[in-house]
Amino acid sequence: MKTQVAIVGAGPAGLLLGQLLLGRGIESVIVEARSRDYAEHRVRAGVLEHGTVALLEEAGVADRLHREALVHRGFEFTFDGRRHRIDLEGLTGRCITIYGQQEVVKDLIAARLASGSPVHFEARDVRVEGFQSGTPSVRFSTLDAGEVKLECDFIAGCDGFHGVCRDSIPRGVLAIHERVYPFAWLGILAQARPSREELVYANHDEGFALFSMRSPSLTRLYLQVPPDERLDAWPDARIWGELHRRLAASDGWQPEEGDILERMVAPMRSFVAEPMRCGRLFLAGDAAHIVPPTGAKGLNLAAADVWVLSQALARHYAEGHDDLLDAYSQTCLRRVWRAEHFSWWMTSLLHRFPEGDSFRDRLQHAQLDYLASSRAAALVLAENYVGLPLAGL
Ligand SMILES: Cc1cc2nc3c(=O)[nH]c(=O)nc-3n(C[C@H](O)[C@H](O)[C@H](O)COP(=O)(O)OP(=O)(O)OC[C@H]3O[C@@H](n4cnc5c(N)ncnc54)[C@H](O)[C@@H]3O)c2cc1C
Repeated sequence: MKTQVAIVGAGPAGLLLGQLLLGRGIESVIVEARSRDYAEHRVRAGVLEHGTVALLEEAGVADRLHREALVHRGFEFTFDGRRHRIDLEGLTGRCITIYGQQEVVKDLIAARLASGSPVHFEARDVRVEGFQSGTPSVRFSTLDAGEVKLECDFIAGCDGFHGVCRDSIPRGVLAIHERVYPFAWLGILAQARPSREELVYANHDEGFALFSMRSPSLTRLYLQVPPDERLDAWPDARIWGELHRRLAASDGWQPEEGDILERMVAPMRSFVAEPMRCGRLFLAGDAAHIVPPTGAKGLNLAAADVWVLSQALARHYAEGHDDLLDAYSQTCLRRVWRAEHFSWWMTSLLHRFPEGDSFRDRLQHAQLDYLASSRAAALVLAENYVGLPLAGL
């Protein structure tokens, strides 16, 4: 089997890359370890930056998004029993879009299948080879296709944090920068009408909480918990009780309760592997970097990476120039490190650290107070939250 670009992973990064390449007449084959059903029902991100929406439009997969997504002009944060609104639109002229990652993935898979471009789900023993020479390939097997050697010009490693691509790069090539946080998020998806129009972030003595939503009938809520927390320690009543407590403020608002459809505990980590390239293997999305979800940047960074990669590959094929491919890692990392800083800062600002450091608590309080009272401080937060511009869009 032969193609121009072999894409490992059918998450948002891999699928969006395939679609952007298709628009530029570049062939690709996507190889995914999981089933289509699994990929389409993995509940994760939900906040899309303006630039990510523009990219989905560019890829021709934004029709349902424009019909069903919720556009938010601001969000709130709560501390000391008070609520403060960050007017994203007023401060930056931009909004954010609430649309579940699983819906983005469904739209991208539907477009991929409609185009007739190959995607192999449930691929086993995926290996990437030869990317340091001129003859890269991806080996895998599926029930339908049997053992496959997919020869290609380039490999896009879009296989997430636990994929094979990054680990296939020889030792010593990548520098790893990492921070593991001393807490995790307990996340639930509830069949409940979102009883407030915008997201609510809370800094509370008992820990962080976040009220968000995925649709007019689905609420998504998070609680800070210890990093090794077990789900069975959190029966429904405890979850709702803690959410009510941490999200409470003087306005008396409380989230509406409903059946809990999904629950998970997600560890919190910052991670960057650089450079994001080794020979003809290009890493994109979570395969190269992770942010704690507080700043809602992971999916958006993945989309930004593949935008840069699609432009670089287009230049290679259309004009025979590799300058953009050579600059790929540097171009992406500039945005990645900005988002790493923002996500680390939001996380440090809103979570309770276990060591009981009163100096840190006072600093958090001073910063929250500053955000609530200074337009300049709120603007920095808003500009980063809505997302910095994407060159060329
Ligand atoms: C609880 C939570 C909340 C989040 N909230 C937000 C948010 O609000 N906003 C935001 O922007 N981001 C958020 N994120 C982060 C976001 O979900 C990720 O950054 C995003 O999924 C990255 O996309 P990706 O395509 O790079 O990787 P993934 O989504 O991880 O996709 C990788 C794909 O590769 C496949 N794969 C893995 N190994 C192999 C292999 N060996 N061979 C073939 N395929 C393989 C996987 O099955 C998967 O389909 C959140 C994450 C979590 C966990």
